[in-house]
Amino acid sequence: MNLTHDPQARSWLASANQPGCDFPIQNLPFAVALRKGAQENARGMVAIGDQAIDLAQLAMAGAAAGFSGLAGEALLAASGSTLNALMAMGPKAWSALRLGLFNALKAGSPAQAAVQPCLIPLADLAYRLPAQVADYTDFYASVHHARSVGKLFRPDNPLTPNYQWVPIAYHGRSSSLQLDGYAFRRPRGQILPPGASAPVFSACKRLDYEFELGVFLGQGNVQGEPIPIDQTEEQAFGMVLLNDWSARDIQSWEYVPLGPFLAKNFCTTISPWIVTLEALEPYRQPWSRPASDPQPLPYLEDRSVRERGAIDIQLETWLQTEAMAKAGKAADRIATSNFNHCYWSIFQMIAHHTVGGCNFQPGDLIGTGTQSGPTQAEAGSLLELSEGGKTPLTLPNGETRTFLQDGDTLILKAFCEKPGAARIGFGQCAGTVLPALG
Ligand code: CA
Repeated sequence: MNLTHDPQARSWLASANQPGCDFPIQNLPFAVALRKGAQENARGMVAIGDQAIDLAQLAMAGAAAGFSGLAGEALLAASGSTLNALMAMGPKAWSALRLGLFNALKAGSPAQAAVQPCLIPLADLAYRLPAQVADYTDFYASVHHARSVGKLFRPDNPLTPNYQWVPIAYHGRSSSLQLDGYAFRRPRGQILPPGASAPVFSACKRLDYEFELGVFLGQGNVQGEPIPIDQTEEQAFGMVLLNDWSARDIQSWEYVPLGPFLAKNFCTTISPWIVTLEALEPYRQPWSRPASDPQPLPYLEDRSVRERGAIDIQLETWLQTEAMAKAGKAADRIATSNFNHCYWSIFQMIAHHTVGGCNFQPGDLIGTGTQSGPTQAEAGSLLELSEGGKTPLTLPNGETRTFLQDGDTLILKAFCEKPGAARIGFGQCAGTVLPALG
């Protein structure tokens, strides 16, 4: 930890010091955005309170705002239309830029006059994907999710024999990545009706969400040269909320033998603000495995992972139906969990992904898999919350849900909070279901 984590630190921007604010001076997450309706290029932004700092404008202020050397180079790299160049620079540059931003924003900073004109209200921003994502891989790293889902798909064999040894994943689809606020059409596909021997072509009837975290990768590696587990820390730029929208009925028919395909490739949404690994530092925790479970093979075993490979991130799922929206009712919280239940750490995921020689590139994205906790109330999907569609959820307005209906808006939120550290938040990742075509 360093002075950028000091819970007593305050900004000259009053909104950053409000209790419960997602973006205090200890957070400083990155996004790419432009002003709504403006004819201008998207560029890197950093959130502070209810404002964003336009990094392209700040780069023009340069030394007057206190940015020179490595911090100045990183600021320039962050001022383009994607953050790939910043991600490629690695942790020394990320840290130098963070420290520069912290110094420019802290109460009493001589840079205040140079930074003030670079502020844009968050409410005025139109976001773009923060990076050009060449590849996106989705892991399956919650054992609680794997067990509950496995029970529904394979009652006799819920956890496959490889699960406790291999960080399981499938290759996701980058082209259908979207941001918070996106509305997508309910997918259609092949579905095997209960008891039938041949599939029908139909709109998905079991549309679901999956509460995941996403990790944006930094420098990457040369093909054929795996990232050793003790160097994975330097590869993770930061994290976002990620919803891996899932068509359960399409999935159950298509997933054998190569895993999900059309059930998952129609849309994945992420939150716009990337919370850096450095900002998450106060919330790192020991990672462990029950002693009765198989322990990781040596290439996935590391002292640093054992000491601080888990991250204490509190997760909340909210649902607003179309009827609630029309009645002016806010979303209801339907589940909570914590990322520290994850069976594999993000560092083990990175080491495993590259161990055969696969190369990461700056801006690649990995999903952690649905983050369900040990109890039913901590489930990260409706499949689990409704026990495979058997037990509907009843919402406070009397509506019920097994799976998502047209007009539903599902919202993921997350934050880190504990005594002795500043609370930091991720913002949100919402998505709305539109009726299927036809
Ligand atoms: Ca998933």
